[in-house]
Amino acid sequence: MSAVAERYEAVRRRVRDAADRVGRDADDVAIVAVTKTVSPHDIINAHSAGIRDFGENRVQEFLGKHGLFPHARWHFIGTLQTNKVKDVVGRAHLIHSIDSLHLLRAVERAATAAGIVQPVLLQVNVSGEESKHGFEPDGLPDVLRESVGMESVEVRGLMTMAPLVPRAEDVRWVFRALAEVRDSLVGTAGPDRVELSELSMGMSNDYAVAVEEGATIVRVGRAIFGRPGAHR
Ligand SMILES: *Cc1c(COP(=O)(O)O)cnc(C)c1O
Repeated sequence: MSAVAERYEAVRRRVRDAADRVGRDADDVAIVAVTKTVSPHDIINAHSAGIRDFGENRVQEFLGKHGLFPHARWHFIGTLQTNKVKDVVGRAHLIHSIDSLHLLRAVERAATAAGIVQPVLLQVNVSGEESKHGFEPDGLPDVLRESVGMESVEVRGLMTMAPLVPRAEDVRWVFRALAEVRDSLVGTAGPDRVELSELSMGMSNDYAVAVEEGATIVRVGRAIFGRPGAHR
């Protein structure tokens, strides 16, 4: 068994334990393996270990790895410039990082041109840190109202990045707040069209807490691939 496979098993166990603690089904939590700085060799190990969902935060690396492993599900999780949208639309299983209406409209145009429907998440700046991308929670109702009229994007839910803190417990409030924002939004733009069933939250340091607070997708890099020094 590869080191990657062993670490992935440990992550799965912790996800299961966290889900058990709050009476959730661990099958409702997808683990996206974040491959930034990870070699193709380790991606093959991850695939052998049963991982099918992978995440990249940079367009160049996303395109390269998508090209090498086109049958995996590639999630785009990083800052996306509008001029790169056409590279990602259609290749991404899910774009987690829609952080402006301008970007959402660009995705709608590119997806329409490609004749597809692109699933996306809206990134929310819950913690209010200035350095963080994302919509303010107050801005979301307007975004959702506009998205309902879009033919070629499907808003599946919300994503957030928690601040880096020494203890995972210190960001529990961020995850809880994202779930509350979602709950408050469901229904506002027409209950049939806006489900927001996905909550993408939690990384290597804090995914267990995120699962306890309702994450349906955790984005885990270092805890699966190791290489703490290569983190960025
Ligand atoms: C790098 C990254 C992750 C994973 O971080 P780890 O701490 O390695 O688990 C998750 N989400 C985003 C957006 C990232 O850029």
